[in-house]
Amino acid sequence: MRILLMGPPGAGKGTQAEKLTEILNIPHISTGDMFRKAIKDQTDLGKQAKSFMDKGELVPDEVTVGIVKDRIKEEDCKNGFLLDGFPRTVVQANALGKMLEDLGIKLDSVINVEVPYKDLIGRLTGRRICRSCGATYHMIFNPPKGEGVCDKCGGELYQRDDDTEETAKNRLLVYEKQTAPLLEYYNNTGLLVNINGNQLMEEVLAEILKVLGK
Ligand code: ADP
Ligand code: ADP
Ligand code: ZN
Repeated sequence: MRILLMGPPGAGKGTQAEKLTEILNIPHISTGDMFRKAIKDQTDLGKQAKSFMDKGELVPDEVTVGIVKDRIKEEDCKNGFLLDGFPRTVVQANALGKMLEDLGIKLDSVINVEVPYKDLIGRLTGRRICRSCGATYHMIFNPPKGEGVCDKCGGELYQRDDDTEETAKNRLLVYEKQTAPLLEYYNNTGLLVNINGNQLMEEVLAEILKVLGK
């Protein structure tokens, strides 16, 4: 299956993607994760992305499109993939359309996870990530058993640099301006399905699996 997971920052895309890729046995392609890894590894890509991410702005389209284009050509994407956080602009959506056309493949579903604006800031500022395995937690909604320690691997939990209230607010503005228009774009293709993201994580997952016929 080839799936796009859309929704504003904090909607729960990463959380759902972790489960979905396990259940569906397809790779999770998160442009945000790819940029964070590049920053950690101090690569050229990381240097290009960092200043934009720190401000809560989008990394330029040509950079972002380039990394996705390389990634979906890899062997493990032959049987499908879950794209999380890409596309985020109309330019990226058009570029993705072209990439898929060149590869002779089509998307199966575009899942849009909806959460009211007022809940998003709290989700972002309370988010914690495992430094070792990347698992996502929330201080209130999904706390780890031991403070600051990952349940799954014992790794150290940290807060993303861009999960401060100020940067989170800008990311939501950027989402409204640059990414929300894509919902209309994918609605016109007939692939868009809206999911209520404002319920328990397990309930969100069940709703998505139902839509996918799984
Ligand atoms: P995104 O990838 O869309 O930015 P995440 O999956 O990282 O979102 O989720 C943002 C924060 O909200 C995380 O701290 C996560 O644990 C929490 N979260 C995810 N889904 C839910 C939910 N259904 N209810 C409450 N909190 C949630
Ligand atoms: P979230 O969905 O929680 O906002 P991500 O991890 O998807 O977080 O993205 C973090 C940051 O990485 C974004 O604020 C942006 O700077 C950059 N980024 C991720 N995906 C894209 C994309 N498709 N286009 C441009 N920038 C991106
Ligand atoms: Zn971990």
